Amino acid sequence: MIQAHEVGHQLQFRNGFPSRRENTARAQELEADGFAGYYMRKPAGYNATWQQAGPAFQFAYQIGDNGVNNPGHHGTPAQRRSATRLGWYLGENNLTVSNFDYYFFYYYDQYVLPATLKMNMDKPADIDNKVHEFILSKVEELRKINSGEMTQEEFEQLED
Ligand SMILES: [Zn+2]
Repeated sequence: MIQAHEVGHQLQFRNGFPSRRENTARAQELEADGFAGYYMRKPAGYNATWQQAGPAFQFAYQIGDNGVNNPGHHGTPAQRRSATRLGWYLGENNLTVSNFDYYFFYYYDQYVLPATLKMNMDKPADIDNKVHEFILSKVEELRKINSGEMTQEEFEQLED
């Protein structure tokens, strides 16, 4: 999990990501967490179960490069959990690096983060229909994680 998070930072550095929003430390950390979740799930990646990945997230998060000491800078623990889980769901698919960046922030910014849930927005043509339907079916869960309504313990016990 830690290695995947760090590889996420390398991909950002090489490609100038995050590209779709303000390139802040917080956005960088959330995307690296998303990338870690993506790689953990990906069949050609680590191919983990959530029973392995959920607790690993907490461990990585406490000893990794970012800790929990500066949530304003790196995102709150709940935001980081939701970023990891969103990446996890995207790991069902084979995305290019730039598509990962595009999809991750599209769903994080448009669906996970906003205070008001809008489910009927027009989907950009370059977002895959199947991915879109799948992620929308998970939005309610992702928002519960992001808002802190779901505890760390509940997060670890989520289904695959
Ligand atoms: Zn980091």
